Amino acid sequence: MRLKPGLALAAGLLLAAAKAPEQRTMHYRVTPGFWFDGTESFQVDLRFRGDADGETLLQLPSEWAGSTELWRQIVGLEIRGATSLGGFYDKPVIRHRPGARLRVRYFVVSPWREDPGFAYGKARPIVRSDWFFWHGEGVFAHPEGREARPARFRWGKLPRGWTVASDLDHLRGRRTELANMIDSVAIGGTRLNVVERDIGGAPFRLATIGRWTFAPEQLADTVAPIVEAENAFWGDRSAPLLVAMAPIGNLPSGLFYVGTGRTDAFSIASTSAFELKHAKRFLAHEYMHSWVPLALGALPVEKQPSDYWFSEGFTDYLASKVLLRAGLWSASDYVADKNETLLRYGTSPARSASAEQVVERFWEDEAVRQLSYDRGHLLAAMLDAEIFARSQGADSLDAVLRAQRDVAKGSSALATSLFAEVLKGRTGIDVAPLIDRYARRGEMLRLPDTLFGGCARLVSERRRAFERGYDADATREADGLITGVDPLGPAFAAGMRDGMRLVGREDRNSGDSAVEIAYRVADAGGERVLRYLPQGKEEFEVQRLELDGRETDPACGVSATR
Ligand SMILES: [Zn+2]
Repeated sequence: MRLKPGLALAAGLLLAAAKAPEQRTMHYRVTPGFWFDGTESFQVDLRFRGDADGETLLQLPSEWAGSTELWRQIVGLEIRGATSLGGFYDKPVIRHRPGARLRVRYFVVSPWREDPGFAYGKARPIVRSDWFFWHGEGVFAHPEGREARPARFRWGKLPRGWTVASDLDHLRGRRTELANMIDSVAIGGTRLNVVERDIGGAPFRLATIGRWTFAPEQLADTVAPIVEAENAFWGDRSAPLLVAMAPIGNLPSGLFYVGTGRTDAFSIASTSAFELKHAKRFLAHEYMHSWVPLALGALPVEKQPSDYWFSEGFTDYLASKVLLRAGLWSASDYVADKNETLLRYGTSPARSASAEQVVERFWEDEAVRQLSYDRGHLLAAMLDAEIFARSQGADSLDAVLRAQRDVAKGSSALATSLFAEVLKGRTGIDVAPLIDRYARRGEMLRLPDTLFGGCARLVSERRRAFERGYDADATREADGLITGVDPLGPAFAAGMRDGMRLVGREDRNSGDSAVEIAYRVADAGGERVLRYLPQGKEEFEVQRLELDGRETDPACGVSATR
């Protein structure tokens, strides 16, 4: 959700008389701490004017982030002010006097009565008797077709002892576009911990629930310099920012976390194993979503994952660049990140997936998902090097994207189209054939030796494919019941069998087939740890970047990005 100056009050009043009912403000109120039919819930009240033609379609939460039928979390739906109701549960048709005042009330429940752990999906709310955590996409029903219409949000009366935090608080009761209101996150409960800081003159809040391996103050200390560095990168003044962090399970050896970027917030839902020392890259990525992609243009409504190489991959690359430039990463941290990416990309079972395959399998297949990030990350690195070389160091991908942001203001064009346009106009580089080869047809991308001004060595080596030897996604979906063990694969050889319970991981997820992985599993014989090399049969050539001391030369790319 982003902040926008509201209309002056007087002008608003004068205009009100002439406004069509569809243009009138929709009023939302969320009140936590309810029970519905014995289930923890929170209440949503919505007041708005029905359409001028006497028929309004109410759209309940539907699909987001790979989850469907989000309306299943909406219960006890009541509609007042209608003359009759029809349609379907997820999309009721309300018939009413033209422009009638309508009131909608419903309760939101969680699909999880216990910690969801690996089953967590960001589209569905977590609602407990003493806390909640949600994203707007899973919560707000709205009259169809009014995404660009004004809406106003407020909290209802909180139960005694509760506090809440949301990026919606940044509006302080002012109106915003409905779509902007939906792009939100909220967390609250009886034990909400809020750390408040000032970053560059704007309020920053970190709102957490649960016990972590770090103190909330330490997380705030890690986030603050990243926020400052990214604001500086984009040349933006500080704006109010919320970071919300919610627990999804106490699994000390099973790390699973999900980040969600909002324009004036980001959220982290994680199992208890989240460690601060590995978090910089992730935090920098999530905050970078405050600009990428929405400040740079739109994402396609249909087949959206086809453009994730841009919205996720460029975000990864820019995050790494900012961390290096701000001194939050050393040159070797930066190179290690590139090498992790190159290795994962080069040995990924999905490495040659086409855009159609990415669209089809993005949310089901972890390898396809990661590929979109890594492919875009490397494409951004390649383009940045090319821009650097062509301009003799005078221009950069950052400058191109900042120019794109100016062009994107008030435009509804796709971010990827605007990028191609601005890049061509500014540098002469035609990115269309590159997008076609690497992002659409799935050709293998190789970084050029000119990367970083040719000041770091790029070597090639043979690596075996990364293969866990069981179906990680299906196992996660089966709540940790191990599924799809390949009898010819490395997991089977180490003793893993279908039907065992996956208790947790005991390694850092490196994605490197030459690094042992370790799973704690349980069956009738008790618990034990299986260790093996996640190697498939196939062998690939992967690239690796080596620093050789020249990177400290001011004329070189790595230091030139500072
Ligand atoms: Zn992301």
